[in-house]
Amino acid sequence: MSDIASDVQPRGIILGGPAAWEKRFVNALLIGAPLVGTLYACHYFRSNAVSGIALIQFAGWYVISGVGIGIGFHRLFSHKSFQTYPAIKLLLGIAGSLAFQGSVVRWIADQRRHHRFTDQPPDTHTPHRFPLLARSWSRARNLWHAHVGWMFDASTTDPRVFAPDLLRDPIAVWLDRWYFALTALSWLLPYGVGFLVGGSEVAFQSILLGGCVRTAALHHVIWAVNSIGHTWGSRPSTRDDESRNNWVLAAFTFGEGWHNNHHAAPRSAYNNWRGYELDVNGAIIRLLERLHLVWSVNRHRKISSELP
Ligand SMILES: [Zn+2]
Ligand SMILES: [Zn+2]
Repeated sequence: MSDIASDVQPRGIILGGPAAWEKRFVNALLIGAPLVGTLYACHYFRSNAVSGIALIQFAGWYVISGVGIGIGFHRLFSHKSFQTYPAIKLLLGIAGSLAFQGSVVRWIADQRRHHRFTDQPPDTHTPHRFPLLARSWSRARNLWHAHVGWMFDASTTDPRVFAPDLLRDPIAVWLDRWYFALTALSWLLPYGVGFLVGGSEVAFQSILLGGCVRTAALHHVIWAVNSIGHTWGSRPSTRDDESRNNWVLAAFTFGEGWHNNHHAAPRSAYNNWRGYELDVNGAIIRLLERLHLVWSVNRHRKISSELP
């Protein structure tokens, strides 16, 4: 807390007070519940055969909530990189809300603060927060801060400053109001599908794999964009910040891992700028555009002129 409190705080970043404790409490629940469930799953599956239905649900809900975060929360709500019908916007918002990563309004406020102050002290979650000392633990401390630690620090992002448009958007307001019901749905849906298809034992395995383990896995994959995605990888599109293109991250995040491209042109609906860069989220947007379900797709690409 003292490290962050020592900086002059820009408008819209609140230090301490009830907001910080509320943030810590909510994040402890959203992170703690999948973690406890995953630890129990490790114990449970040592003595029980894995149901195929539960495994399929792990993959299926991972894709749905991952695409909800990437296309819904990130490219649509945060960067407005395309426009779509209210029903599709609502569905993408619900899919993102299944990821146990906080309500759309808070997620977008934190994300926009990251873009406004990328890798500078007021950044929400930079792995370059603390001075890099000779000792190796200072890099580990920075990575921890960018990956998980920031969710428990003393600063909160004021949506009235960073996301006022969402506070006026009836769909975002609805998603925010019903956030905890949607969070419960994130685990009840795999349970319900498992019960209907295979009975109570399969339902239990489905809530473990399709609920707890899936949300815990997606947590670390998305958080890795903040930690690894600003530490390891190439910088072919911009050198203005420490963001990186990382193909492993891109594979698990459906294209969000081409993070250096994204920082070079945040409003672009597509993160793949070169032939070998696979951007599944971008391909889905392209398909939706062909089906006339999305329009005004932003294709802006900028290659920084300062590059060697
Ligand atoms: Zn970034
Ligand atoms: Zn972004």
